[in-house]
Amino acid sequence: MTRQKIIAGNWKMNCNVAETEKLLKSLIKGIRPKRGVTVVVCPPFTSLQMATKILKGKSIKLGAQDLSEHENGAFTGDISAKMLKLVGVKYVIVGHSERRQFHNENDKLVNAKAHRALQTGLIPIICIGETLQEREGEKTETVVVQQLDGAIADFGNNELKKIVIAYEPVWAIGTGQTATPEMAQVVHRLIRDKLGKLAPELAKSIPIIYGGSVKPDNAAGLLSQPDIDGALVGGASLDAKSFISILQAV
Ligand code: PEP
Repeated sequence: MTRQKIIAGNWKMNCNVAETEKLLKSLIKGIRPKRGVTVVVCPPFTSLQMATKILKGKSIKLGAQDLSEHENGAFTGDISAKMLKLVGVKYVIVGHSERRQFHNENDKLVNAKAHRALQTGLIPIICIGETLQEREGEKTETVVVQQLDGAIADFGNNELKKIVIAYEPVWAIGTGQTATPEMAQVVHRLIRDKLGKLAPELAKSIPIIYGGSVKPDNAAGLLSQPDIDGALVGGASLDAKSFISILQAV
């Protein structure tokens, strides 16, 4: 079964509007669309409108880094799924470890956000992954399965067929330390097996992407693993040359 490959750039809290324009123009210039490969960029909220304009008619898809679980109302500082949809967003990152760590997001909230995204026609990129302490305590499997179960609790086939899972070991995010391709493959396989118990046929087509210090020099090894269907790239997505060379490794 050939699964869609996804390479997504998480720009985090980087790039103002002018910098967004510059980076996107470099990406458009350097990226050749490849069949079976979806490229997504997730700039900050303030850059989304500009990004939509620049990406009009291009193959690069627009993503956001978070959304509110609520439809609308008195939630100061939050952004709704509908607002994202109307500005041209197609994908949205949900449950990134930085949201879990700095904003106390738990599995229940991640589930509510993923539901909200799906109801609004956005594709959630659901992030799960263990901390260093959990890995060293041999709790990787337990933590990853627990986060997965929580994030997709009560999802049926209609939901499962539209999600992307990102396995992001927290100890590898922004640290320059990457899981080896073999280490990552073990967890990706575990996630797919777990999905397979819920939806045996669908599990083969759900993209499971890896994130955590993916760089041009380690991308090919990671992306050659049978259950790694792409990458969620942080730091290296801010440099057009690096992001493009990661894409070339697919
Ligand atoms: C991320 O933010 O999801 C990420 C994986 O960051 P980095 O590539 O910088 O580790």
